[in-house]
Amino acid sequence: MLLNPLKFHAPQTLEETIKLYGSLPNVKLQAGGTFLLNSLKLLKRNGAKTPENVISLNRVKDLKGIKADPQMLTIQSMTTITEIFESPLLTDNFAVLHTVCRNISTTPIRNMATVGGNLTCRYTWTEMPAVMIGLEATLHFLGKDGTKEALPAEEFFKGGAKTDKILTHVTIKKDPTAAIAYQRVKKTIHVDIPLLSLLIKTNFKNNRFTNTRVSINNCVAFAQRDKQLEDFLNDKPASATIAQEALDHLEKTIYDTRGTDYKKHMFRVCIKNALNELIKKSR
Ligand SMILES: Cc1cc2nc3c(=O)[nH]c(=O)nc-3n(C[C@H](O)[C@H](O)[C@H](O)COP(=O)(O)OP(=O)(O)OC[C@H]3O[C@@H](n4cnc5c(N)ncnc54)[C@H](O)[C@@H]3O)c2cc1C
Repeated sequence: MLLNPLKFHAPQTLEETIKLYGSLPNVKLQAGGTFLLNSLKLLKRNGAKTPENVISLNRVKDLKGIKADPQMLTIQSMTTITEIFESPLLTDNFAVLHTVCRNISTTPIRNMATVGGNLTCRYTWTEMPAVMIGLEATLHFLGKDGTKEALPAEEFFKGGAKTDKILTHVTIKKDPTAAIAYQRVKKTIHVDIPLLSLLIKTNFKNNRFTNTRVSINNCVAFAQRDKQLEDFLNDKPASATIAQEALDHLEKTIYDTRGTDYKKHMFRVCIKNALNELIKKSR
């Protein structure tokens, strides 16, 4: 199906992008385009209004790349999933991004899809939201009038992940003492999108869970924390039985929302596996 006619803009600098974004009517941003082009076709098929202008962020060099300093990892929003996967900077708590990116979809999608698109597309099942909440990442936005805004990932997704700004980059503080486990289950064997995913991060102090963060993506609501499970785990010893005991302390609404028995079961399996993996790391 052909798209409705539109004007395609390909600015090369962030300044130029903001100028266009602030001045053009009925405009949409394009990152990797893996969702956007489909959604434009869907709008057309449904007889809905489609954007007159699309601004591609693909040539904006300021929005690409990953860098690290002793305190922080910075990922620009137009960095692809493949580029993140291949980055040599994924050490300490950032290493989990390697696992996450390796499991996202297929090579062609990973080569095009960007971290910015994954975080701002408002599909509840993409995986970066739970990961960024779990890693306590901050999302940085640039408004049409040039104002900058920094928002914890958790706040962004609590607010429904709505924005009319450009996500420019994501920052994550370095935490060499964090232990992290990531689990995901495929939805079907045909199209590799997740049924569920979760990240658990903790800092073991005296062999006890401390500052634990459990972020869950049930794929029907935006990613969120299970604070009930976090409260249960904090200050508990990293014992052989804790993973099983933890299953009696889950925030049910997260797991039960439109959850089939299989999905509920797989959540329990994944939480148990993640905790057992962390306990091994505590020794
Ligand atoms: C077949 C298929 C399988 C997939 N499987 C997985 C999977 O297993 N796991 C997973 O996590 N994801 C998966 N995805 C999603 C994929 O990883 C991308 O996140 C997603 O396709 C969007 O990224 P994109 O860069 O292509 O964004 P686009 O399609 O270009 O944009 C998506 C939306 O985000 C907005 N946007 C993009 N960048 C910005 C920005 N910087 N600032 C503000 N708004 C912005 C656009 O305006 C648009 O509304 C899959 C996608 C497909 C098509």
